Amino acid sequence: MNYISTRGGVAPQQFSDILLGGLMADGGLSIPESYPQLTQADLESMAPLNYRDLAFAVISRFVDDIPADDLKALIEKTYTSEVYCNGRSKNQASHITPLIKLDNNLYIQELSNGPTLAFKDMAMQLLGNLFEYVLDKKGEQINILGATSGDTGSAAEYAMRGKRGVNVFMLSPFGKMSPFQRAQMFSLQDENIFNLSVHGFFDACQDIVKDVNKDAEFKAKYKIGAVNSINWGRIVAQVVYYFKGYFAMILASGKKVGDKVDFCVPSGNFGNICAGHIARQMGLPIGQLIVATNENDVLDEFFKTGGYHPRGLDRTYETTSPSMDITKASNLERFVFDLIGRDAERLAAMWKSVETGSGFELTADEFATMRDRYGFKSEASNHADRIAHIREVFEKYGVQVDPHTADGFKAAKAHRNPAVPMVIMETALPAKFEDTMQEALKQAPFRPKGLAGLEALPQRFDAIEADAALIKQYLVERIK
Ligand SMILES: *Cc1c(COP(=O)(O)O)cnc(C)c1O
Repeated sequence: MNYISTRGGVAPQQFSDILLGGLMADGGLSIPESYPQLTQADLESMAPLNYRDLAFAVISRFVDDIPADDLKALIEKTYTSEVYCNGRSKNQASHITPLIKLDNNLYIQELSNGPTLAFKDMAMQLLGNLFEYVLDKKGEQINILGATSGDTGSAAEYAMRGKRGVNVFMLSPFGKMSPFQRAQMFSLQDENIFNLSVHGFFDACQDIVKDVNKDAEFKAKYKIGAVNSINWGRIVAQVVYYFKGYFAMILASGKKVGDKVDFCVPSGNFGNICAGHIARQMGLPIGQLIVATNENDVLDEFFKTGGYHPRGLDRTYETTSPSMDITKASNLERFVFDLIGRDAERLAAMWKSVETGSGFELTADEFATMRDRYGFKSEASNHADRIAHIREVFEKYGVQVDPHTADGFKAAKAHRNPAVPMVIMETALPAKFEDTMQEALKQAPFRPKGLAGLEALPQRFDAIEADAALIKQYLVERIK
């Protein structure tokens, strides 16, 4: 399996080469030269597999520079009921991403039962093990530098804690995270995890990361890397749970392998749902892929009009589904590459206009193809919708869903065909968003047993000024 760049300017590379990198050298994103194709017989043989075996069946088709036995061992070590133990029902833990029924043909897929209670653990935990393995083989080290307002940073830290060859330096805005998020990150005592609490807003943290990365010499000398949402390893790991959700849904709804299932995905950077698109390209019978957004509705606008016009920070709103507060969806580039027939030259021109101008418009044909052949639909929500849908799901079905999943529920309802099974992806557990859950349900959300008393654990972090030079100095002193 060779990987190319969406912008066409890079020679084909192997999985292990792109795993540790971010953007390709030409500014594009890595993508397989072609997608592995599955037959009806392949799908039928995959249907009964447990999560680990399914993960191997899917991921091994994208990787040919890691021996099969090694890849299998890394996957086996990642997807265990001990790691994915934070769900509603203990005896479902072995399914890793179990379904919960809301209504006939309407289910939620639990993706958030890992250590940090968000779907990002699904991919990040595997990435931690893959990084350690690949760095060991290459005899290299990586120092991950990131900025977080909550979810991504904690998922990265829990995935990389204690891994050989990896240090994590995570910047977060001082006093701006919820007490739960702060406790989650700062209670880690591992020597390779460094939490820097920066005096400033999230944007300041992000600017510092950009500044450090602009210093090419520093970046190379200190082996600075990232694990952001464009990382191909994350995308490929996410493809797996669409297969798992599909087969579980076929079983639950009494359908046959080959029948269509719709998926609805709370979206921000378009990483999660991009994995759904890839699963469909491999031959998984997905009907609609429904993009749910919040008040930051740049993707809703794109899927409803064919115009992609990313917005500046002045038009990025802070909402109560904060992990979707994104107005530039990096992974969209991968889907549009496929949509326009993999024309790298045109793609490069379109993204140039995203970076320097006002964005682009699809042709009428492309717009129709996107909706009809690729099945993309969308819906946006606001705070009042979110509160109303958290309540509705609880009152009708007795299930607590978090604010992001509630946005998904609204979008699923808007596009649902009652004859076709629909799976809503649960991207976080409600325990992470106590204030909004309180507002909606007048009660605290359920909290997984292992996380009782989290806020009382000793915390370890360094407070620091929002100054790139100081932060570089901090790194230099700690990188051996
Ligand atoms: C990251 C995140 C999202 C958005 O996922 P993308 O892959 O960026 O589209 C949605 N919900 C939650 C809870 C998240 O943490």
